[in-house]
Amino acid sequence: MDLSSKDADEMRQWVKEHWDPSGDLVSWRTQLAESGWGAPSWPEQWFGRGLTAGSDKVSRQILYDSGAVGMASGVSMYLVAPTLLEWATEPQLQRFLLPILTGSHKWCQLFSEPGAGSDLASLATRAERDGDEWVISGQKVWNSGAQKADYGILLARTDFTATKHQGISFFLLPMKQAAVEVRPLHQMNGHSSFNEVFFDEARLPHENLIASQGDGWRVALTTLAHERSAVATPRPKFPLSTSPLVMAAKTEADEYFATYSWYPQRAGRPRLVEPQARLLGKSQIPRVRQLVAEVETLQRTSRWTTQRAGAARSAGRAPGPEGSVAKLNMSMTAMKSAAAHAAILETTGVLSGSSVSPHEVLAEVLISTPAQSIAGGTDEIQKNILAERVLGLPKEPRPGDKE
Ligand SMILES: Cc1cc2nc3c(=O)[nH]c(=O)nc-3n(C[C@H](O)[C@H](O)[C@H](O)COP(=O)(O)OP(=O)(O)OC[C@H]3O[C@@H](n4cnc5c(N)ncnc54)[C@H](O)[C@@H]3O)c2cc1C
Repeated sequence: MDLSSKDADEMRQWVKEHWDPSGDLVSWRTQLAESGWGAPSWPEQWFGRGLTAGSDKVSRQILYDSGAVGMASGVSMYLVAPTLLEWATEPQLQRFLLPILTGSHKWCQLFSEPGAGSDLASLATRAERDGDEWVISGQKVWNSGAQKADYGILLARTDFTATKHQGISFFLLPMKQAAVEVRPLHQMNGHSSFNEVFFDEARLPHENLIASQGDGWRVALTTLAHERSAVATPRPKFPLSTSPLVMAAKTEADEYFATYSWYPQRAGRPRLVEPQARLLGKSQIPRVRQLVAEVETLQRTSRWTTQRAGAARSAGRAPGPEGSVAKLNMSMTAMKSAAAHAAILETTGVLSGSSVSPHEVLAEVLISTPAQSIAGGTDEIQKNILAERVLGLPKEPRPGDKE
């Protein structure tokens, strides 16, 4: 159920009575969380109102229209919280949900390893039980935002004798400890949004194990389904105000989203394709016209697919196959847009640095779009998922399969 007009009126009234722009961010978000209006799609007993995912968007708009700020955003909200809501115990939810909503805890995802990306279940980071604690040793890679995170959702192997999917467990790892070393990676587009993370006997309490030992793969599938559905919470809009509370929320978002400032370029900037073609007088070139048309076609079909996925979520259904299609559409749009920008820019597209190129942003597009086909599961893996799980085609051979 979405937010009805009665709910919306009730929420507006609540915000009017409680919003105090001179207060502090965590206290305001705590109040908002406890009212259930900050994340109305969450269950009633956990800071929500049991409404549909669409209601969160309406709630964000009401807060904005009222001059107020909403909950924290990012990986914590779109990957960690839904996974915890599905799998965590009551004491775990009590400890972790509120700091996610208030933004007091920032999170990262510690899944991929140098030898385990697409074949994630091959991961080799080790977790060994030591009394009331687990000891973690090994390495992760490509971990976005790990340099700023307080906690990581971690997949580690707890049983090296079990079959590979069964020997994995899912943990919540405190990142701020000496045995966790985060090394930023330098990307070819000049940014450093992801990291290598090394664990040298890092420790976490047993109560940070999610589900049972060996159940990690099933928990991870929940996280991956949310990741593939590509509904990352966007950078929030903020009301025009210099009040302490609005400024604090803006500063928090600026810091968090600085890591992701190249993501619009990663998506190909498709909306700039057609205006750029006109601006640079290239819109009569047949090859450019063809590419512009292809980008426009992809954008429209992607939008319709996203709307179908949104309708499914609003109807209370879990993220489904349209998530994989949407993600693939995003990759195709990014690649086609990059091809179009390259055709329009010609040789100036290989220049970068504001002093040499007037097309700085577009030059960044050309070296950022490859990441779109890799992050959150590669295009080839998405195609395998569609083929096997959606179309029911025979499974591709796996290592160890008999001829
Ligand atoms: C921008 C970005 C952000 C990321 N953020 C995170 C993060 O926060 N946390 C995290 O844990 N990870 C993160 N990743 C890592 C990402 O999940 C992995 O890069 C991805 O799963 C692919 O793994 P890989 O890089 O090891 O490539 P590989 O799995 O080695 O793949 C190499 C190539 O082989 C192909 N391939 C592999 N297996 C098959 C198959 N069975 N059939 C057909 N083709 C196949 C792939 O499609 C690809 O083209 C991020 C990656 C990017 C680019």
